[in-house]
Amino acid sequence: MEKVRVRFAPSPTGKLHIGGARTALFNWLLARSTGGTFVLRIEDTDVERSTQASVDQIISSLKWLGLDWDEGPEIGGEYGPYFQSERLHLYEDKAQELIDKGKAYLCYCTPEELEAKREEARRTGRPPRYDGHCRNLSEEECARLAAEGRQAVIRLKVPETGETVVDDLIRGRVVFQNSILDDFIIIKSNGMPTYNYACVVDDHAMRLTHIIRAEEHLSNTPRQVLLYQALGYELPQFAHVPMILAPDRSKLSKRHGATSVEEFRDQGYLQEAIINYLALLGWSPEGTDEIMPLEDIVKQFSLERVSKNAAIYDTKKLTWINGYYLRNLPGERVVQETLPFLKRLGLIGEEPGEDELRLAHDSVLLTRDRAKTLEELADAVSYFFKDGFDYDEKGVQKHFSDPAAADRLCQARARLEALADFTYESIESEYRQLAEELGIKAAQLIHPTRLALSGRTIGPGLFELMALLGREKCLKRLERAIDFIGQRTVE
Ligand code: GLU
Ligand code: ZN
Repeated sequence: MEKVRVRFAPSPTGKLHIGGARTALFNWLLARSTGGTFVLRIEDTDVERSTQASVDQIISSLKWLGLDWDEGPEIGGEYGPYFQSERLHLYEDKAQELIDKGKAYLCYCTPEELEAKREEARRTGRPPRYDGHCRNLSEEECARLAAEGRQAVIRLKVPETGETVVDDLIRGRVVFQNSILDDFIIIKSNGMPTYNYACVVDDHAMRLTHIIRAEEHLSNTPRQVLLYQALGYELPQFAHVPMILAPDRSKLSKRHGATSVEEFRDQGYLQEAIINYLALLGWSPEGTDEIMPLEDIVKQFSLERVSKNAAIYDTKKLTWINGYYLRNLPGERVVQETLPFLKRLGLIGEEPGEDELRLAHDSVLLTRDRAKTLEELADAVSYFFKDGFDYDEKGVQKHFSDPAAADRLCQARARLEALADFTYESIESEYRQLAEELGIKAAQLIHPTRLALSGRTIGPGLFELMALLGREKCLKRLERAIDFIGQRTVE
């Protein structure tokens, strides 16, 4: 079999969206699972909407996701350049060839004239397609129109009858009537190629074997097939991956929450979780286990297991997967990933010292089972770093309103102060013993202590928490809580 060559071809007009990332991933997976080549090509011919900032963002998101390319920006390759804006001469040359062969022609209709015709078509209930007005202009007529100062576009001659077939690896055979595809523009009046045209010229020039892209592009594909035919190029294999819809089956948009890879990263989603989740948007593994690290996905991936049906985008599932990776990735990695979030909350410095790093390490490992995102995790360990937290309202009602609470905390405080060594085991046995002496359940000591030390009602095991916090902080925080309870009773 011919070696697989696939590409991801984003237009740099915004951040890398979940849909784009999924397209990139499926292309990357096909390349990696077959020993093929993954190309990154930037489709920046829309001068008004393309920005360098978007190029940078897309590249950094792809890198962050671990979707490395074998040819493309920054690394080059045999078929470059990989920015369409640097390939304009190629589109010009090919367009001239098409004109010379009588397969394309110059059209001098002005936008106003075209709009008037469209309006007329609407009024009389006809489809608003270009009427082929300039199809057979003589050279003299062209010269005269140009002399009027008209700017020409180049249009492809599309057969008026017959059909164009797209054989799609996912969607099967899709037939389009040529009568609905008018003579579309391939070079705009500003000299820039249109998407369909530049895409075909490049997909061929870059020797791509499979065009894997979103279903939204299926309606462009017959035009591209016509271009392949006009240019005398062999067709690649097409695979249109299913739409991604919101849970209510509407089009995915901002109101469904984060939609770009960058936003998810900022909210504390791990690369592993996003990749795993994206793979499941349209593709399914053979087994029932949906938690799959990338290496396993690469081993199993095939286009045959990509569904035709729309994929439903469900952040709950992503969050659940993220929680799994937070609990199961190597601890050191989770710690490293949490550091930026601790910095963002001002819990550690920009250049954290050894003590800060040690506390970050221990508190994150102690707490990671309880968080679903890095953002949550950073918040969940915040009390290890700062003293002046508020006490949880409900917790105060429950654990600080018992008249005996202050007294119990006082006693606990005294015992902790006198402990020979301040370890998890010694604290625990002291607490259990004190509870027994007071004739209460250990929980009646544990809950108010947790609230006093963390401001919260839930968290990691209390004795581990205390050992990590250290004696001095524990004593101070118990005093603060005792004062707080005292003031409440006075009020
Ligand atoms: N630049 C197009 C886009 O971002 C590429 C579509 C394609 O893959 O052909 O939608
Ligand atoms: Zn015209």
